[in-house]
Amino acid sequence: MVVDDEDRVKELLKRYSKFKPSKYNFLFIKHNEHFLFNTLSRCFIRILDKSSVLELINKKVINRKILLENKEISLNLLKGGFIVPSEYNEIEIIKYLNTLSRYQSDFLNLTIAMTLNCNFACSYCYENQTVENNGECIKKRVMEGLFRYLEGISKTIKGLNIVWYGGEPLLCMRKIEVMSERIMNICQNKGWTYKASMITNGYLLSEDVSRKLNILGINHIQVTLDGPEAIHDKRRPLKSGKGTFEVIIRNLNILLNSTKEISVGIRINVDRDNIESIEDLLNFLSSNFDKRRVKVYFGPTLHVNPDIPCSPYYFSEKDFGKQFTRLINIFRKYGYYKNYTITPVFNRCLSIGENAYAIDPDGNLYKCWIDIGNTEHSVGRIKGNGKVEIYWDKYLRWLNYDPISVCKECVFLPLCAGGCYWFGLNGNQPRCSSIKFSLVDSLFLSTKNQKGGDNGSLT
Ligand code: SF4
Ligand code: SF4
Repeated sequence: MVVDDEDRVKELLKRYSKFKPSKYNFLFIKHNEHFLFNTLSRCFIRILDKSSVLELINKKVINRKILLENKEISLNLLKGGFIVPSEYNEIEIIKYLNTLSRYQSDFLNLTIAMTLNCNFACSYCYENQTVENNGECIKKRVMEGLFRYLEGISKTIKGLNIVWYGGEPLLCMRKIEVMSERIMNICQNKGWTYKASMITNGYLLSEDVSRKLNILGINHIQVTLDGPEAIHDKRRPLKSGKGTFEVIIRNLNILLNSTKEISVGIRINVDRDNIESIEDLLNFLSSNFDKRRVKVYFGPTLHVNPDIPCSPYYFSEKDFGKQFTRLINIFRKYGYYKNYTITPVFNRCLSIGENAYAIDPDGNLYKCWIDIGNTEHSVGRIKGNGKVEIYWDKYLRWLNYDPISVCKECVFLPLCAGGCYWFGLNGNQPRCSSIKFSLVDSLFLSTKNQKGGDNGSLT
């Protein structure tokens, strides 16, 4: 809670007689100076009058009288959300925002795995390891079932977001065409907005395919590059072992030249195996692609199957957190992440919300894309007649998952929202976001960049 208006702060002082320090104060020392950040209000201050401020924020209960005795400091602490009225229950604010985001989506979000088959043999692919794959494209009965389901939706939604996914979705291009045309038609008849994007390895993005994707309303493509050519080719070869970097780069150029509307996201999976080569890749990408249309970003290489031992190359969340600001700085050197700021996160993803499903080629439904193809984790099934059968016990595990209660004691909760819910549901502990391990350094990166933001000094 940031109280912007000075009069409002004064009003708080009039109305309440008892106050307390916020649950979300994060105090730290850097270069012998004390800093205070509130993860809920995102106010960040350097503390000059250390003894008065620390005394106040270390009290369990702060009487109004004490605040009035230290008026200037108190007003600033109240303003920044570092001190709140005792009656305030900050966790309820977070709970409310989390609930709102779960049930307030006007869009139906579908991730459609067109096939579980892939032309690549990536060294770290979890689908290779976990999924039984018959290599087929999505079944006709599933396509028909989906069309009928969409036609039959009576509740008010404003639109449909589709992510074409796989395996490699472009192995099923013909079916993507058929499905897109029909779904766009349904959206038009219902007055829904239609948005579509695709996650592809980029190998089959020919000029013809690119033009078709454009016509089919796909406005964003995500591909993965894991390093400069030699590194990428070692990690993401074709099944035959042949490299793929050169073809992907050529295809991206074709796509960008042959369409005007499609934007591109290049994801770099980072682990110990490729981290030292990221800079070479960024050097290449920044001089070859227009940053207005091609965004480049990174994430940790994911280890999702607890039954398979984690590769020594993968970073733990903690170790990845330690690399986080170093990576941001490297990206910035090449013109990416220029506007990096620390943002509030009240819901990590759509998986625990109402209007989001992933569908596999057999019509099984999941709440998270990680589970696609793992039918034990399926939460339902779409039938050929358009009816959806929900496996309520499994479905409700997701819908009723309460990350806010699980993480209620954590000071990082407003920036993390309880980690990845798949891990929370399938492992023993939530998987903490890297901001937990990189907050201090991230704050300084963020503030350099935050004009007229929440920062200031507190005397
Ligand atoms: S549950 Fe985890 S892996 Fe699944 S979509 Fe959410 S954040 Fe991603
Ligand atoms: S997942 Fe970890 S960092 Fe995130 S809120 Fe929960 S305990 Fe905190």
